[in-house]
Amino acid sequence: MARDFSVAVVGATGAVGRTMIRVLEERDFPVREVRFLASERSEGKELLFRGEKICVQRLDHNSFDGVDIAIFSAGAERSLIFAPSAARAGAVVVDNSSAWRMDPEVPLVVPEVNPHAISGYKTKGIIANPNCSTIQMVVALKPLYDCARIRRIVVSTYQAVSGSGQKAITELEEQVRAWVDGRSSEPRVYPHQIAFNCLPQIDIFQENGYTREEMKMVNETRKIMEDPEIRVTATTVRVPVFYSHSEAVNVEFEKKISASEARELLSAAPGVKVVDDPLHSIYPLALDAAGQDLVFVGRIREDISQANGLDLWVVADNIRKGAATNAVQIAEVLAERYL
Ligand code: NAP
Repeated sequence: MARDFSVAVVGATGAVGRTMIRVLEERDFPVREVRFLASERSEGKELLFRGEKICVQRLDHNSFDGVDIAIFSAGAERSLIFAPSAARAGAVVVDNSSAWRMDPEVPLVVPEVNPHAISGYKTKGIIANPNCSTIQMVVALKPLYDCARIRRIVVSTYQAVSGSGQKAITELEEQVRAWVDGRSSEPRVYPHQIAFNCLPQIDIFQENGYTREEMKMVNETRKIMEDPEIRVTATTVRVPVFYSHSEAVNVEFEKKISASEARELLSAAPGVKVVDDPLHSIYPLALDAAGQDLVFVGRIREDISQANGLDLWVVADNIRKGAATNAVQIAEVLAERYL
């Protein structure tokens, strides 16, 4: 990369924002100046970047003068209001929220899958980062799609509480402590107790009986894979895990693809690590994936109920590959090829 950039992190104090800062440091992104933005609650707080204390500023429409790249993770409402201001000020926005993902004029990008789509940022000055559960699934499925084209996906997710932000991490911790101490604790983030429980509801229900999270997996998968014909059905479940989403993915292909072929393709795929030795109880685990940037795939087997089917178990850190790392990877392609 020939030049350095002025980078704004919007939502810098949140679960994703704090990881974003670490990922920018770890990947040595060419930052000339960094600006941390959040709500008025965080104004004046100090966060470290490369050992230097940076004061958090309150987000407003004038926050983006001189900014080249603005990475947003402060919720869809803020993205809808402030991403256009950032773009007008000349910044390219990489947005982690759901606000712009299905806008036909906004590219939805996973760099291992559709990096070419980034070029579409010029229309609105915005690039959308997909939903965390979609990102890890498409990274695992793309190499198989390229070999045998996917007809249908049936996915069930086991999603970590960090997917709902810092408050949900605290809620699970508090509920576990309360349970051990024999105290009761009222749920605040979720409609029910999450500790020692599984909640088959992520986000709100739609008219068709699916949740918004489930429909994100349906619609975003088609957009990223650039194939509106793929049929997808999803059941998304919140589980009492702090970091990393796990997914049981059943795939029907246009032609047969054997388990060993799939293992070979996935072993050579960018961003994927195959962990698949079930006889020794070796398979991807949420605890092992936490803090990592790769998508881990295991339990690769041929579906005995259909001719051209495979079953997979896919695990990735939702805050890193599912949000911060994917956003920084997008910024890297943008910086290298377009800015
Ligand atoms: P979080 O921990 O609750 O953090 C929210 C961030 O937004 C904080 O920095 C907060 O600042 C800021 N914010 C809230 N209201 C604001 C306002 N009025 N003005 C300016 N800043 C405001 O949530 P998160 O998990 O990091 O998620 C942030 C975004 O990333 C969401 O859009 C989410 O959908 C998306 N995302 C999350 C994940 C995940 O796995 N967690 C994955 C993909 C995408 P204060 O600290 O000042 O309140």
